[in-house]
Amino acid sequence: MNKLRIQYDASRFEPAENDLIGRALTFAVNSHGDQKRASGGPFVSHPIAVAEIVAEWGLDSEAIAAALLHDVVEDTEVTLEQIEKEFGVKVAELVSGVTKLRLSSSPRPALDSARLDLNNENLRRLLLATTKDFRVILLKLADRLHNTRTLGALEKEKRTRIAWESLQVYAPLADRLGMGQLKGELEDISFENAQPEEFANLKAQVEEVTRNSAGYLEGLKRAIVRHMKTAGIEVIKIEARQKHYYSIYKKLVKTQGNIDKIYDLVAVRIIVPDVAACYQTLGILHQNYKPLIYRIKDYIAVPKPNGYQSLHTTVFGEAGRISEIQIRTPQMHEEAEFGFAAHYLYDEHKATAAYAKRGAATTPKLKWVTELASMQQAALNGQEFLEGAKLELFGDRIFVFSPKGDLYELPEGATSLDFAFAVHSDLGLKALGAKVNGRLLPLDTPLENRDVVDIIKRREPAPSRDWLNMVVTSHAKSRIRSWFKAASRDVNVASGRSAIETELQTWGIKRIEDVPKRTMADALDGLHLRSPEDLYAQVGEGTLGLISVVRKLVPEVPKPKNVEVVQYVAPTGRVLVEGSHLPHTLAVCCNPVYPQPLLGYVTRGKGVTVHALDCRNIPTDVERYTSCRWETAEGSELLACRLSVEGRRRIGLMMDIAGTVARQSLNMGNIVSTLDVDTQISRIEFTVEVPDLFTLSALRHTLERLNSVERVRRID
Ligand code: MN
Repeated sequence: MNKLRIQYDASRFEPAENDLIGRALTFAVNSHGDQKRASGGPFVSHPIAVAEIVAEWGLDSEAIAAALLHDVVEDTEVTLEQIEKEFGVKVAELVSGVTKLRLSSSPRPALDSARLDLNNENLRRLLLATTKDFRVILLKLADRLHNTRTLGALEKEKRTRIAWESLQVYAPLADRLGMGQLKGELEDISFENAQPEEFANLKAQVEEVTRNSAGYLEGLKRAIVRHMKTAGIEVIKIEARQKHYYSIYKKLVKTQGNIDKIYDLVAVRIIVPDVAACYQTLGILHQNYKPLIYRIKDYIAVPKPNGYQSLHTTVFGEAGRISEIQIRTPQMHEEAEFGFAAHYLYDEHKATAAYAKRGAATTPKLKWVTELASMQQAALNGQEFLEGAKLELFGDRIFVFSPKGDLYELPEGATSLDFAFAVHSDLGLKALGAKVNGRLLPLDTPLENRDVVDIIKRREPAPSRDWLNMVVTSHAKSRIRSWFKAASRDVNVASGRSAIETELQTWGIKRIEDVPKRTMADALDGLHLRSPEDLYAQVGEGTLGLISVVRKLVPEVPKPKNVEVVQYVAPTGRVLVEGSHLPHTLAVCCNPVYPQPLLGYVTRGKGVTVHALDCRNIPTDVERYTSCRWETAEGSELLACRLSVEGRRRIGLMMDIAGTVARQSLNMGNIVSTLDVDTQISRIEFTVEVPDLFTLSALRHTLERLNSVERVRRID
């Protein structure tokens, strides 16, 4: 048996942890026995190398042990149960998470990541396992990195397949995790193996350019250090770094460009102690070298979606040669290179101030994990989950701002409605419109990078099923869906309750609680319902008519208090129907007589059937209700009541309100109209003279059905 060792920094760990790692090593060595790799070396050298990679990334002892054991279940007789017995449930779960993941992809896919074939069960499993324990994806990436490093030993076909898979799936994942170094290495080795000719060609071109500029860059670096010294700013490190080959290749393909026009082929990177020094450095550079204005990027104030932070500027350097310069702190540097792994350290780091400070920067990276988890909970089907994951992980991202300047990251193509849901589910559900950069635009407007979006909301949630077609994020989709699911009870109770209360106000009762208990109990008895909530729910879902319910809660119409009696008129015995061109008949079921309050029901082809307002046979389809009342002649008593109508601002709203009142032969006056500029909600208050409260109630319902009106209530 070979003497196989693992090299890692054991001083980081407790004795028990080192013991776990040691036992896992022995177990792996014994299990894999004399299995060989394609290179001819012992197989166990692979899990050992993977374990060393995750140790280097700073992962914990469980992850290192799992890395050592990650191929044992797949390639030997050992079962997961044995692993669990020997090393505990956590290690077993990690091993199981990595074991299941066998990704496959088409052999020669497009470069374009949007055309990735991700519709496979294995990727879905990887993502699901990742939502449960994030170490799974890091283990898988370490496994992939080592397999990529040792690609050379494989036959051509297998090598090409693995290389393409890394380019399509694993490098983008590493990028999403902000692991720049890993992404660069995976991409460059895979590029060389997947497209050997293009790689060789590009490499020759790049070497040509960089050979010519090596001396120049040395001079530029020295000059910059001099300028910094004069200004008294410490330079921790300055280096000229060549961009990764695959990034250059992608850029050339994308821009169909010339390699001479890629200014960041070799970038100068300056590392300074803190953020203030970063900005000072930018100032010093611009004082000495003219910048290309459009290429100044402040990724400190506005980080890239994967959390990357730095200042970038492209300047006419010494002798006017154009160069990109990147400025960052050591911490930003560490994050750019190691990304998520840099955060995913053990508890002692979490206690430090540096870690707490980094917490904010970590959020955008972790967000998509939360997102995946919530997508999973929303029970989207497999296809939807993958679509969503694809968008979250591999899609292009945009940044938009709230009016307060808070930054939100969304996939390209996201709409104002997606934004509203990203800010808060409640805001999404109440969204009414959006101001994008100060302009009022519909909710389905696709947003652009750096838009400032201000959501205008209504009082109550009112999503519609069309919204599912107006959003692209799975977050918004799942929220809208679950609203409709949960809506059934809770929302119906709330909306039913609110409708009843508003109607009660018409009758001079301020709150539902003011209805005497006895009256409520009688009403529930009569309707065979158990609780007030059942009553609200049935009104909310439209099973029970609002008016018949309220008539049970207000059996005796209270003598109106504080209401001005304006004049007295006598009844004529005739019925006035709103929109009086319709023929009307008195309903035979209830045969209403004066002064019974009335409600009209429009029957297609038959005109209006006039029922007594409390008739149980009135169908519940409120859309067909129309108000009617007994005509009165001069001399009746009229009550002056004040109504408030709130609705989305639109041309003709006031005219429609006035027309509705006039068609019922009612007088209105003392009109006050105000507009809330923020919400674009008009509020129109007026006094109307009605013969009785039934008429007022009917008028209120008619007004509520006007286009864009959201709420009508009596306010005195
Ligand atoms: Mn492996």
